[in-house]
Formats: sequence, structure tokens, C-alpha cells
Amino acid sequence: KSGFIAVIGRPNVGKSTLINSLIGQKIAIMSDKPQTTRNRILCILTQPDAQVVFLDTPGVHKPMKKLGEYMESAVEGTLQEVDAVLFVVDAAEKPGPGERYIVERLSKTKQPVILVVNKIDTLEREAVLPAIDVYSKLYDFAGVVPISAREKINLDDLLGETKKYL
Ligand code: GDP
Ligand code: MG
Repeated sequence: KSGFIAVIGRPNVGKSTLINSLIGQKIAIMSDKPQTTRNRILCILTQPDAQVVFLDTPGVHKPMKKLGEYMESAVEGTLQEVDAVLFVVDAAEKPGPGERYIVERLSKTKQPVILVVNKIDTLEREAVLPAIDVYSKLYDFAGVVPISAREKINLDDLLGETKKYL
């Protein structure tokens, strides 16, 4: 099995940390500089049963008016071409404008979207489910996986869920 997965989410939700944790070492191609390149490869994960290419989707959280025409079509291109989308959110924060823009974009694609509720380590146990719930209601997600990218919680579940769409 092999395929392409777009990783989206507004800044600071933990996308880079997630990629690093998945890869297990700091070999991911990453940068926090503004990117204009289409389909920037974040990392390629090779496992016995699957090869997954994770792609960045720069600017996806920005209001359409603020994004240039080129970037606009790059975002659309990426979202149409991948096998699935990982939408990363911060469990400790309520959905904001960044999330709403992303959901708006996602509603125009047919790709399955997996909601990745990150940073569950920052929440009290009983606050985790309500946090997941709030985000789940935003969109008809193909799957929902709570994780901690930093503490490496539930990453196997996330990979398992992701591989379904390769
Ligand atoms: P990005 O902008 O989406 O790529 O986010 P980063 O990966 O750069 O992470 C932003 C901040 O959140 C950093 O300080 C990370 O250490 C922190 N962070 C990322 N994942 C987690 C997590 O699972 N738990 C906690 N507590 N912090 C996290
Ligand atoms: Mg980053």
C-alpha cells in the first residue's frame, strides 16, 4: 500500500511535532518559513506494509481573499490529489477562524478527512471527550483520532486509520 496524505491545520497545532514523532527521528523535511511551493513533502514514512508521503498544505487556514491566486490553486490542487487529509487541531483550544476556513475548503473536496485532535496530554481526563466532540461536529469526518504528538500517544491508531485510505 502507498499513497499521499495532506497534513493541514493552522500554525501551532503540532503538525511538525506529529511528523517528527511519526518518523521517529528528525529527518523530516520541515521549515517554519513561509512556503510557496506546491505539495511540499513533509516526510515519507516507510513501513513493512505501507509507504506514506505526508504533504504540507501551506496557507490552507488563511481566508481566501488573503491568499494569492497561485497559492489558492496550489491548495486546491493538493487537496484534490491526495488519498486522504489529516486535519490537525489543538484539543485545548476551541475551534477558531483558522479551523472554520479549513472546514470551508474541505467541504469542496471529496477526499476523506481524518480529524486529529492533538495535545490531549494537556487536558484533564474528563475534558478529552468534550474537546473531541466540539471538533467532531464541524464536519463529516471519515475518522477521528485523539493523540498527543509530543507524548506519542495513539500514533499507532492514527497510522492504522490513515492506512485505510491508501
Ligand atoms: P505546527 O505549527 O502545527 O507545525 O506546530 P508545532 O509542531 O511546531 O508545535 C507547536 C507547539 O506545540 C510546540 O511548542 C510543540 O512542542 C507543541 N506541541 C505539539 N504537539 C504537542 C502535544 O501533543 N502536546 C503538547 N503538550 N504540546 C505539543
Ligand atoms: Mg510546523
